[in-house]
This record gives sequence, C-alpha cells and structure tokens, in this order.
Amino acid sequence: MYDLLLRGAHVVDPLNGVNGIADVAVADGKIAAVGRDLEGAAREVIDLTGLVLQPGIIDSHVHLGSMWGSPFGPKMLAMNGVTTCLDMAGPLDDILNNVPEYGAGINMAILQFASPPFTFKTNAPSKQEMIDLIDASLEGGALGVKLLGGHYPLKPDVSSTLIKTALERRAYVAWHAGTSEHGSNIEGMIEAVEMADGYPLHLAHINAYCRGAIKNEIEEAKTAVELLKKNPNIFCESYISPKNGTRLTCDAEGKIQSKVTGNCLRHFGFSEDRDGVRKALLAQKAFVVYDAGGYSDLCTGEEGLKRWEAADSDVGGSFNINPPIPRILLAQAKRDDGSFVVDAISTDGGCIPRNVIISQGLSLVKLDVLTLSEFAQKTSLNPARMLRLTTKGHLSVGADADITVYDYATQTPKASFVEGRKVLWNGEIVAKGATVICTEHGRKAIEARGMKAVTVDPGKQVERVKAL
Ligand SMILES: [Zn+2]
Repeated sequence: MYDLLLRGAHVVDPLNGVNGIADVAVADGKIAAVGRDLEGAAREVIDLTGLVLQPGIIDSHVHLGSMWGSPFGPKMLAMNGVTTCLDMAGPLDDILNNVPEYGAGINMAILQFASPPFTFKTNAPSKQEMIDLIDASLEGGALGVKLLGGHYPLKPDVSSTLIKTALERRAYVAWHAGTSEHGSNIEGMIEAVEMADGYPLHLAHINAYCRGAIKNEIEEAKTAVELLKKNPNIFCESYISPKNGTRLTCDAEGKIQSKVTGNCLRHFGFSEDRDGVRKALLAQKAFVVYDAGGYSDLCTGEEGLKRWEAADSDVGGSFNINPPIPRILLAQAKRDDGSFVVDAISTDGGCIPRNVIISQGLSLVKLDVLTLSEFAQKTSLNPARMLRLTTKGHLSVGADADITVYDYATQTPKASFVEGRKVLWNGEIVAKGATVICTEHGRKAIEARGMKAVTVDPGKQVERVKAL
C-alpha cells in the first residue's frame, strides 16, 4: 500500500535518465516506484496530468536571517517550490529561533557568517578566534561558515587561514569573494580562487563578479568560466535574477557600510554615502526590502525613501545590477567531461524577494540554454551533491520523497512534497517547522529545539555529476 501516488506528470529525473510521462509512488517518506501506469493501492492518488515533476528544488544560496529582509524566508522559498535550501549568512540563532513561528516544512542548512563587524571584532581575527567561531557554529547546528568578503572584507591572508581552518574542522565553507585588497568583482574572484589553494570551496554567486566592474561583462564571464575549468576544487552557483541583495546602512559619518552597495551606487552614478542612497531611491535605481504582510517585497521612489529614513538607513536593499549575458553564459558553460562549470542555479533569495528558479529559470529552457533535464540537474541533483546529500536530488527507489511540481507553460510552482508530506498545496503552505541539515556536532542542539536533524559530513569530497 502506497501513501501517495502521483499520476501522469512529465517526470524529469536526470540521474536515472527519466524524462517523460510517468507515475511516482511514495511510501514512508521515500520514493517507492517510478514508472508508467503503476499498479497498487494508495491512500491518496493525485492527478498531475499536464504538469512537470522533478526532484525537489534545492536552492544553494538563500538568506533566511531576518536582518536581510524579514523572517518570512522559509515561506517565500516554499511558495516558489523550493524544498531544501542553503542559507548563506545566518545569523544562526535568529534563523533557528524563527522556525517554530515561520518554518514552512522545508529542509535548511545554515552557514554562520564569519565577518566583521558581526561575528569578528576586527578584520584580522586570530586562528583561535576562528576555531572558536567555527566550533560554536557547528555545535549550534550550522553546517559551516560563510565569508561575506564582498560586503564586509577580511585581509587576504586572514581569509585564506579561515578557509583552511574551516576545512580542518570539517565545516562547510563558502565565500562571497572580496578582501581588503580586492572587491566583489572578477579580481576578487581570481584572488579567492588563489587563496583557496586547491582546497574545496563554495564560491558564491559567480554572476556577481561579472557585472562589468573591471572589464567588459562578457569578457569577465569568460574569464570566470576559464578559471573555474582550471580549478575544479571550486564548486559554485550563479543566480538568474537581475536584482542583487545588499544592505543600505550608513555609518555615523554618513558613509555606506557595505562595499557592494558602494559599487552599485557608483555604477549608477551616485555618491557612496547617505546622499547617494537618497538620490538612488528617488531615481528608482535602489530598492528597499520591506514587510508586505507575511512576505517581503521591494519598494523604491518616495515610498522607499520614507521606509529607509524611518529605519535610520538600516534596511535590506537591492539594485538591478546583473547584466543578462553573463547570467546565460554561466548557466550554460560545461567542462570537457560534460559536467557544468557552474554547478547550480541559485537565487540569493529567501527573504530577499527574488525566488525565481521556476519563474525565471525555466526561461533558460525555453531559450535552449538548458534542456529540461539539465535544469533539474542544476536545481536539484548538483546542489544535493554540493551539500553531500546522497538521498536527495534524484527519484531513485529509497530516495527521500522530496518533489517539486510546476507548470512549464506559465513557469509557476504548483505543489511540493518534503519526505512525502505536502508543503505547497493549492497555492498555500500547509506544513510547519523545518528539518535542519547540519554536522554530527549540531545534532543535539537541533533536536533540543524539537526539530529533525539530518547530518552530513562537509569534509567529504563533492562528487560532481559528469555527462548524463
Ligand atoms: Zn547572498
């Protein structure tokens, strides 16, 4: 007896070479069978004729911490068909504290930020300070740490020591490129790859280094692709929205705090201070993230300025700063062995309103940049490999029944399931809580919070998928 029988969808499962009409049966939260016209009784049968069904979407770059927008990240992701996500900044406790009220039944892995002025006092923390932060983060249920170099940089040698220290502790480590020497641009990316020195590193949002800050943006994208081909130790994602995510905070002297925000203001011809932000908002070039009542949204112009002033400048923000061609080049590029140069399609969304894997990512399929199977590979199988999740990203018998269903024609999510339980259903979120993907060190803390822990070992090699 199956728990669930999903009938008649176009099923896409790249690992198993499935790409056509099939039924999917679920029992005890696992995939029980995939095939045409499956026989056998089920407690619930759902007809999905006309829709696409793939392994649950895994967004490998999101933000759930309320300081980046709102506490509504899990719900905003779930509404867009995401079943698993990797948070790329924390704060760890804020995210976990919000799960009982704001959890939406999805799986989350969390990276604690390792950056001044938040978790380090200066931009040159000692090795012991690094160890203390990494170990406390893992014990608290984080999967690892994230260097927010582009926004809040460390010195280059300190960044390098931090990466190696994280790897020594078998913590997941990701880096938004940038140091005190190089910015969040193609030079910063080149420096980050050098600093990784052959060690495994998740380099965040490759498209963010290909915005034309140093050279022509297409040349920058080609440089990024060549660099990644030569350095397969770097695994990475790139997002597809034109919008970035940052903070519009100014310090006591009126200077902008985030280097990325400074870059954006300069790009649009504004000064990198309070006056520049004010003018960028009025010119509708800068956007403010605000609570739109259960989800966050963006506003600009007079309304944006009012909200920014009311918060004394300390708000999440966004600029339309990502040119289109690099995003397409990075989505498509492959190595000689058929593996993708940029492993995954991400959003850098979550509580920042740009959860567009389905609504914009499927345009890449319609433009023949990716096949439908490659889309599923880059939005589920590959990010599962990055997270060392062996039971997600595919629909093999015995795999977790994490499933996303969408309408290809309208590029809208229709349903999702996490371990066989409905999450997105009839346009609403019908699940609560969260499963936390952490290391063995964090299991106790997560279970003490009454949440389920799934443990992985980020010290293990990422097994990249070759040509399918
Ligand atoms: Zn981010």
